[in-house]
Amino acid sequence: MSLKMPAPDTAVLAKRDDIIAALRAIVPGEGVITKPHELKPFESDGLTAYRQPPMVVVLPETTAQVSAILRYCHKNNVKIVPRGSGTSLSGGALPLADAVLLGLSKFNRILAIDYDDRIAVVQPGVTNLAVTQAVQDEGFYYAPDPSSQIACSIGGNVAENSGGVHCLKYGLTTNNVLGVELVLMDGEIIRLGGRQLDPAGMDLLGLVVGSEGLLGVVTEVTLRLLPKPQTARALLIGFSSVERGGQCVADIIAAGIIPAGMEMMDKPAIHAAEAFVNVGYPLDVEALLIVELDGVAAECDHLIGEVEQIAHDNGAVSCKISGSEAERLAFWAGRKAAFPAVGRISPDYYCMDGTIPRRRLPEVLQRMAQMSERHGLGVANVFHAGDGNLHPLILYDANQPGQLERAEAFGNDILRLCVEVGGVLTGEHGVGVEKRDLMPVMFTPADLAQQQRVKCAFDPGLLLNPGKVFPSLHRCAELGRMHIHAGQVPFPDLPRF
Ligand SMILES: Cc1cc2nc3c(=O)[nH]c(=O)nc-3n(C[C@H](O)[C@H](O)[C@H](O)COP(=O)(O)OP(=O)(O)OC[C@H]3O[C@@H](n4cnc5c(N)ncnc54)[C@H](O)[C@@H]3O)c2cc1C
Repeated sequence: MSLKMPAPDTAVLAKRDDIIAALRAIVPGEGVITKPHELKPFESDGLTAYRQPPMVVVLPETTAQVSAILRYCHKNNVKIVPRGSGTSLSGGALPLADAVLLGLSKFNRILAIDYDDRIAVVQPGVTNLAVTQAVQDEGFYYAPDPSSQIACSIGGNVAENSGGVHCLKYGLTTNNVLGVELVLMDGEIIRLGGRQLDPAGMDLLGLVVGSEGLLGVVTEVTLRLLPKPQTARALLIGFSSVERGGQCVADIIAAGIIPAGMEMMDKPAIHAAEAFVNVGYPLDVEALLIVELDGVAAECDHLIGEVEQIAHDNGAVSCKISGSEAERLAFWAGRKAAFPAVGRISPDYYCMDGTIPRRRLPEVLQRMAQMSERHGLGVANVFHAGDGNLHPLILYDANQPGQLERAEAFGNDILRLCVEVGGVLTGEHGVGVEKRDLMPVMFTPADLAQQQRVKCAFDPGLLLNPGKVFPSLHRCAELGRMHIHAGQVPFPDLPRF
């Protein structure tokens, strides 16, 4: 791997047998995995370009066990990498050679559902889709819907502040989580938030959502449930250029309409998706926009008419309106399967995640096309168009020497461009290891030092998920007395990775 991770601690590696014995005493039975071939499935997450077998995997089943594991590791200076379903696309769950990989997959129960208060209390290993499946017969659902929802866990969603097509209208994970139970690195168990929308005290829950497993291990989550909208209908709109599609998106938002979802695909993505799911996407367009409206039927009909008119004004070359639930789902099927579909046209792809101001979309796409030529690699684009979140899929072949490095360089250029045009490094996939070294492109040394002080307040020994998110290691004691003068970080001699 071209990525530099913290050097393994030889003192910890020398104690591996003792660590395994201690973990077995906490989690008896088959909950501790040590054999090389059994560690293999855990060696990477969704960012498969990077691999590292963990020192040992432990799969606890209770909060008390998680607490005991963290307490032991804290006392013995052993690092921990939390893991949900391992679908992170930024390498957030990438193991370390000298760390315990703490898998939460056995935390897979829905503990309580309260339809009056509209909440569900779930363990972190429950998959995102399972929450909606558990409540849909009563007319409810859980709004954030990552495309990986059949596999990704609620704990992972909390750690990454995950989004999905419905987040434009209903908010990201952070807007739909009311409370968590969190085990701190020293084994202490705390509760943040609760069953109500705005609990008293500082918003530490807001801090934990999106903290990428760096502050604590989530062992229980209270989620907000929403009543299913009476109607949902979608439009499938084709454009002769991405610019026209982008303008249509801007005009829909400017008209005060907030669609339940608004997604765009460029030509390579449309062709890949259609070949994969065969749902009748037009193949003669340069951009395809899916706009979903939901609410009461009359409101939906009215808004469908408005969006149709805006599409027409922007020179749409085709426009289909879903006439049935099956057709609406078919419109979405291609978009939801876009990633695996692209996997069929290229041996490997590297999924980027950056966000830009919507109005800069045409310019960014144009510059991305130039980069594609310069790096000699293709790119297919899917976007959460409503909120400017881009997912360029860089096409490469890992078996061709140098192509992975070129894909990474291309990806870095895209993310730098996102920041340059006023956007941000990540929309929903997190920083992980993937964007770690680009953090200084977006944040000043003072910004980064302040974020690291928050990390130190939760985990002074820097034992939780080290090597992720922060581009350089500062020992907390030094950070405590760090003074940034004229943008110069002190202790430049400290090891960087
Ligand atoms: C095909 C595909 C499509 C995707 N589409 C989307 C999408 O539409 N939107 C989106 O936002 N993401 C998407 N993702 C990315 C990914 O699914 C999300 O980031 C997801 O939330 C990760 O969940 P996970 O359970 O797999 O977590 P993991 O990959 O196991 O871990 C992710 C991070 O969370 C931490 N973590 C996990 N569990 C806990 C816990 N209990 N306590 C503390 N920290 C924890 C880990 O340390 C790591 O840093 C996609 C991924 C794939 C492969």
